[in-house]
Amino acid sequence: MLGVETGVVIERVDVDEDAGEIVVGCRLRKGARRRCGRCQKRCPGYDNGEGRRRWRALDAGTIKVFIEADAPRVSCREHGVTVAAVPWARHDTGHTRAFDDQVAWLVTHTSKTAVVELMRIAWRTVGAIAGRVVDDARAARDPFDGLTRIGIDEISFRRGHKYLMVVVDHDTGRLVWAAEGHDRKTLQKFFDLLGPERCAKIRLVSADAAEWIAACALDACEHATLCLDPFHIVRWATQALDVVRRWVWNVLRRLGVHGQAAQLKNCRYALWKNPEDLTDRQQAKLAWIARHNHSLYRAYLLKEQLRLVFQHRGDTAVAMLDAWLAWARRSRIPAFVALYHRIKRHRAGIIASVTHGMSNGLTESVNTKLRLLTRIAYGFRSTDNLIALCLLDRGGHCPPLPGRN
Ligand SMILES: [Zn+2]
Repeated sequence: MLGVETGVVIERVDVDEDAGEIVVGCRLRKGARRRCGRCQKRCPGYDNGEGRRRWRALDAGTIKVFIEADAPRVSCREHGVTVAAVPWARHDTGHTRAFDDQVAWLVTHTSKTAVVELMRIAWRTVGAIAGRVVDDARAARDPFDGLTRIGIDEISFRRGHKYLMVVVDHDTGRLVWAAEGHDRKTLQKFFDLLGPERCAKIRLVSADAAEWIAACALDACEHATLCLDPFHIVRWATQALDVVRRWVWNVLRRLGVHGQAAQLKNCRYALWKNPEDLTDRQQAKLAWIARHNHSLYRAYLLKEQLRLVFQHRGDTAVAMLDAWLAWARRSRIPAFVALYHRIKRHRAGIIASVTHGMSNGLTESVNTKLRLLTRIAYGFRSTDNLIALCLLDRGGHCPPLPGRN
């Protein structure tokens, strides 16, 4: 029931009906005593620490359960004076391992309110638990093992005041690393952690066109080819399309054609969405644009055609990209002529990505999920806990529910 298998003697069980608590008094068997809380090695004892201590365990029905035991300190040769290890909990925490694992499982499977209400803990405690569960999982298994194709990106949160740099494994679809910041120094930390041997195994790096990201990655990984993530390229086209829409709207307004201007203002989503996802109303808007505004409709077709390029692979995709470049160059739409120059500059990176079959859907879905997590993590004590939540959810570090593995 307590998630403890060996090394523990249960001395007494007290039921406090008024407080609605069960307190289980334990002591450690000889072999489990005086081990360093960090490395589990046997060490000489140091002192009694803060005496008896309690750990919150999983509830028994609706009743809160606590384990109570001595928490002496030991003197480890490597880690100095530290609280001795107990088999039921992670180092220096107030919850049992099973409790932590259940919270970590819940936070990736259900809502914030559900976790807080069910487990009867504060939201910031959930953040701290996510932190130690992830630390544990990453210490047990090398999170960078087998990395050959990585995607690097940045995500803004707190309304654009803060940034996360994230690294995704294109083969597993997992988030492998994240840190706060968005500069070369932050990203360099990842390559330092990776070390020269594993850096040499990186074959492909996808990055949006922030030149310093690409430069930093290629400096660190000598055998890597840079790929431009199709997801970002399509986003450039969507941005260019939006520039055209606003420009047309302003012109119409200045000419006094208010009816048409108002129509255009509401058609942003019709232009943005993939045609297969359009509602009937949005399709009608698009048809209206096709009839009344030829440059805007051509801009829309240019965006769509570019998106189609990335649904193909290899030579077909390359031929389609070059046809697109020729079309954009002659389009006489300034935003798309500018886009032509930008894409032409990055042609090699784009071709690498369509040739090697980098999946844009992957980065896109990871990014969407991470953005959502940055909002959910609001209220955590630190960005480290936010990163832990991201790694728990997208990094494959979520533990199984206690007792089911
Ligand atoms: Zn130690």
